[in-house]
Amino acid sequence: MAPDHVIKQYFSVFFTEQNFIQKTYAALEKFGFSAENSLASVCVCRDEISQSLRSHIKRKWGEAFNFSSLAGMFTAGKTGLMAAIHHAPRVGKRERYVFYVIPHIAVDEGGKTGFCKRKGIKEASSACGALCLFLDELYTGKLHIKIDEEDIEESLLKRRLIKEITYGDIPSLLELTQITRKVIQEDLEHAIGKVVDTSKSDYAMITGIQVHAPDGNYIVPDKSYIVLKSKKKVLKIQ
Ligand SMILES: [Zn+2]
Repeated sequence: MAPDHVIKQYFSVFFTEQNFIQKTYAALEKFGFSAENSLASVCVCRDEISQSLRSHIKRKWGEAFNFSSLAGMFTAGKTGLMAAIHHAPRVGKRERYVFYVIPHIAVDEGGKTGFCKRKGIKEASSACGALCLFLDELYTGKLHIKIDEEDIEESLLKRRLIKEITYGDIPSLLELTQITRKVIQEDLEHAIGKVVDTSKSDYAMITGIQVHAPDGNYIVPDKSYIVLKSKKKVLKIQ
């Protein structure tokens, strides 16, 4: 299957990572955000194949504060968010934060979700591995949600995501990735509500899903908005 057909099977709108970051930068620039006056931050998976997105963000916005744990879950909490906002530039008596929330999924040549190729490994590899492990436990009916001190991030991920799934239902990997995107956004928004003072700061929430296709990484845009002088405005990345 042609690489773009693979991704088109699941998504109608998608951009290369570079293009997506350029588009979001251009969209935010219109509202006064720039590399000089804003601090970017990210929720992306720890997986090395996800880090290309952080490199593109760095090229446009400068180094981004990293909130992420496995699958891109927001586990940095109020302390992490507080640290980030204290690091933001103070220009024209205002602070500006840009939050990128982008969990990931792979799609292979045959259009199968969850599988990708990795450097030096012949066999197919999984992405997002942390979400695949959680799904395996759902399929086998052996879900462990006790906090395992030797596996803190995966335990927290399972405990958080299971709350979003109807008892007895097993989502597809794509559905679970979409649930993960929503959960990360909500958890970050909850912390923002506690920590961010919109009388002195503006911020942007940019969300989407990173897709590892056979020919490279793409971003499928999802809910995005800015809060400017305490007023929310929906952004359409297109
Ligand atoms: Zn992952």
